[in-house]
Amino acid sequence: MIAVAEALRMTLEAAPVLGAERVLLDAALGRVAAEPARSGRAVPAADNSAMDGFAVRAADVATPGARLHVLGSEPAGSVLDQPVGPGTAARIFTGSLVPEGADTVVKVEDTSEAGGVVTVAIAAQAGANVRRAGEDIAPGAVVLAPGTPIGPADLGLLASIGRATVVVHRRPRVAIVSTGAELVEVDEGVARAQVVNSNAYQLAAAVRVAGGEPVVLPIVRDRFEDIRERLGEAAAADVVLSTGGVSVGDFDFVKEALDALGVERLFWKVAQKPGKPLTVGRRAGCVFFGLPGNPVSALVCFWVYVWPALRRMAGHRRTHLPAVEATLAADVKKAKDLTEFVRVHLEPARDGGWRAVPFAAQGSGVLSSLGGGAGLLVGAAIHRVLAAGSRHPVLVPAPESALAGADLPAEPA
Ligand code: AMP
Ligand code: MG
Repeated sequence: MIAVAEALRMTLEAAPVLGAERVLLDAALGRVAAEPARSGRAVPAADNSAMDGFAVRAADVATPGARLHVLGSEPAGSVLDQPVGPGTAARIFTGSLVPEGADTVVKVEDTSEAGGVVTVAIAAQAGANVRRAGEDIAPGAVVLAPGTPIGPADLGLLASIGRATVVVHRRPRVAIVSTGAELVEVDEGVARAQVVNSNAYQLAAAVRVAGGEPVVLPIVRDRFEDIRERLGEAAAADVVLSTGGVSVGDFDFVKEALDALGVERLFWKVAQKPGKPLTVGRRAGCVFFGLPGNPVSALVCFWVYVWPALRRMAGHRRTHLPAVEATLAADVKKAKDLTEFVRVHLEPARDGGWRAVPFAAQGSGVLSSLGGGAGLLVGAAIHRVLAAGSRHPVLVPAPESALAGADLPAEPA
C-alpha cells in the first residue's frame, strides 16, 4: 500500500503529454496551445482614430481657436479620397483610418462646426487620440504561448490576426470498461440482485468536463477471459478506466487481466478512503486505471488521480483540481493511517472564507454524498478525528456546481 502523494506522483509520471493537432477556432475553447501563434501582421493594421472628431495636422492646432476647412467625412471602413493638407481637417469616427497628411485627432466635443469650417477650441497634443499601427500587436509578436489554455480572449486575439485555426494538444481518448456480473444498462429492468451501471455515466461525464473524449464500452461480466479481451480492445485509447473487480474477491479479475495484457503495474492499493483498491498501470502510450466499483470510490479516484492525468495529457500545466481552505463545521471520525476524502458541502463562512459541512452518510456506496456539488475535504492520514473548527484543504470538482449558491462579495461602494 502506498501513500496518496506517492500514488499521484507515479500516476502523473506515467501520463504522457499528447501530441498536437490543428483545429478551427470554433473547436479550440478550453484546449491548450501546443505551438506559439505569431502574428504575421500589425494590429491595428494602420493608424486609426480612438475618437469621433476631426483629423488634423498638429501644427495647425498648436494654439486654441484654429479654424480649418472641412474636406469631408471618412466613416470607419472607408478611405478619404484626398490628403489633409495645411489649414484643413477631415470629419472622422472611432476606428476610421487617420487620413494621409493628418497626424492628430481632436474630439468632436472640443470643436464646433459651421459652414464647412471647424473651429478647434483647444490646443491639441501632436498624435492625440490616434491608435498607432501595431499598438496592440506588432508583426511577429507571439499572441499565444504554448501551454496556454485557450479562453474567449485568446480566440478573439487569434481572429484579430487572421488565424482561422490553431495548433493544440490532442484530447485524451478515454475508454470506459464497466465490470460486474450484477450490472444492467440504465434502460433495462433491474432484478433484486442487479445494479444499474451508473459508473459509466458519471465517468463519461467527468471525462468530458476534464476535456477528454469518452468511449463507453459494453458491460463486461466477471469472467477473466472476457475482461482480458475487453481491456485489450480498450487499450487502443489513450486512457482506460475500468470499474470494479480490483479487490481481493473471488471474481475480481481486473489485475490479472492487466498482467496478462503485459500492462506494467505502477501500484495497487493506496492508503486512502474511499478508493483503497485503486490500481494504475501503463503499456506503450496507454495509461490504465483500475478503479474500484463503488460509485463513490470510482468518482473520488477519478477526481484525485484521473483528472490531473487527463489534464496533463491535454497539455495543461496546472493539472490539479482547484482547492480552497475551509473550516470544518463538525467533528469527523476517520480511519487512522489513511488519507480520507470527506465529502462536504461548501458554504460561505461569515469571515469571508469557506465552511465545510460534512455529509452525514460517508459510506463509499452512498453516491448521493457526491451529488449537488460536493467538495472533497482532504483529511490527512495522521489524524483519527478531524475536529470541528480545524482547517483543511477541500478539492473542488466541477467548481461551477460546488461553489454555486455562494453569494458574490458586495460591490465596493
Ligand atoms: P467491486 O469493486 O466490483 O467489488 O464492486 C463494488 C461495489 O460497486 C458493488 O456493490 C458493485 O455492485 C458496485 N458497482 C460495481 N460496478 C458498478 C457500476 N458500474 N455501477 C454501479 N455500481 C457498481
Ligand atoms: Mg465486481
